[in-house]
Amino acid sequence: MNVEQLRAELEALKTEMRPLEPDEGERRVLGDKVLGHALGYLESIPDAPTNNEWEGVFAQRLDPEFTEEGRDPDALLSYFGQCVNEPGFTTTSPRFMAYIPGGGLFHSALGDFLAAVSNKYSGFASASPGAVRLENACTAWLGEVIGYPKTNAGTLTSGGSIANLTAIVAAREARDPDGGGAVYTTRFAHYCVDKALHIAGRGRAPKRLIDTDDRCRMSVAALEAAIERDIADGIRPWLVIASAGTIDTGSVDPLPAIAEVCRRHDVWFHVDGAYGGLFALCEEGREKVRGIELADSVALDPHKTLFLPYGTGAALVRDGDQLRKAFSASAEYIRPLGESEVGPSPADLSPELTRHFRALRLWLPLQMAGVAAFRAAQREKLLLAQYFHALLSQLPDFDAGPPPDLSVVAFRYAPDGMDCDAASERLLQILQQEGRVMLSGTRIDGKYFIRCAILSFRSHAEHVDEAIGAIARAADAVKHG
Ligand SMILES: *Cc1c(COP(=O)(O)O)cnc(C)c1O
Repeated sequence: MNVEQLRAELEALKTEMRPLEPDEGERRVLGDKVLGHALGYLESIPDAPTNNEWEGVFAQRLDPEFTEEGRDPDALLSYFGQCVNEPGFTTTSPRFMAYIPGGGLFHSALGDFLAAVSNKYSGFASASPGAVRLENACTAWLGEVIGYPKTNAGTLTSGGSIANLTAIVAAREARDPDGGGAVYTTRFAHYCVDKALHIAGRGRAPKRLIDTDDRCRMSVAALEAAIERDIADGIRPWLVIASAGTIDTGSVDPLPAIAEVCRRHDVWFHVDGAYGGLFALCEEGREKVRGIELADSVALDPHKTLFLPYGTGAALVRDGDQLRKAFSASAEYIRPLGESEVGPSPADLSPELTRHFRALRLWLPLQMAGVAAFRAAQREKLLLAQYFHALLSQLPDFDAGPPPDLSVVAFRYAPDGMDCDAASERLLQILQQEGRVMLSGTRIDGKYFIRCAILSFRSHAEHVDEAIGAIARAADAVKHG
């Protein structure tokens, strides 16, 4: 092609690619449609079922899935509503009390939108000093919440699994670079810890499952005995992984005593606080997770306990240099790395380079709603779990167990003359089919438990009342059905 032909071809391509850049009027129309759809969705939440049939996924098919000429936005939004938003769990519902709920703050959704529109490059301070400053403000704030000294460093991750992995890699680089060190945890540790050890190349590290007490908390005496046994056998203790809130029962390991054992034996102390760690923001919660500030590293999940939409975890390391040493690297085409007045660059603290500017979805709600609202919501969740536990204890035939450490209540249904595991499992099945209140189940040492996990910012006392009502109805159905 000569220059004239090239020029003509380029003009043609410019016209052809135009759908990628809607003009101002089109942007406004698209924006209004999408916002309208989102607002409509939010209005549907108070009454939406918490669990919908999968059939909706197949109600319509996009055929072909991807067209050359694009589709009508109204048709797409309607497809999205019917075939994506409806089927499966409604995790935004105030009556969703299964697994570990989050909720998804609207302010965060707006933050994601703003971040995507300006597309600031938040990996390096030189590219977006403002974005990096804001991200560092967020991780510093998280460090303050858990009570870390100013020497800590942190990184926002996609979730708790990657936060645990990030911390474990820092622990490996600091204390087990050549391998061989032993790991100590309990059988209630989240399975992402095993995954993280595997990815970090420590899947075959000697691993000791430490005994727990009757509240599923790590026994400090058993931990110390295991460490001493390893030392006597010539095995170097490397890493203790404790829980600040287990998935099953929300139990918090005795963190201050574990920290003391780790200090005495020079073992890296990691706390998986993905569920419970950030309860440290409110006074009652801080008391529950006391000792978390003594850990060498902590994994947190703002998409759980700060109610963000999915996609935000955080790894914090007490001695920030250990995080930097594990992840800082340099490349010719990037300006020399290092500190700047806005703090370290996220790319030096994490395996990621180019990444979503995820700080904005945390920063914006903290700014717009204010910290006090978060603190109140957390305290409300802790009290709601106590309220649920108290009401459940008044129902006949239920074993509500001990009062909850945090906001998870694990309980059993034990009517006379029925197998307790089968009755509990059946009760949960009825609840989930009814779809009004969503709880989940687990097995602890072979026994079946129903779990009520209260963590959505939308859950209030009336929703706990409703959950108790639904449980009583389901119990009746199990007994007589
Ligand atoms: C949720 C959770 C995880 C995993 O976090 P993701 O955000 O799902 O990756 C790990 N540990 C605990 C205790 C959790 O509650």
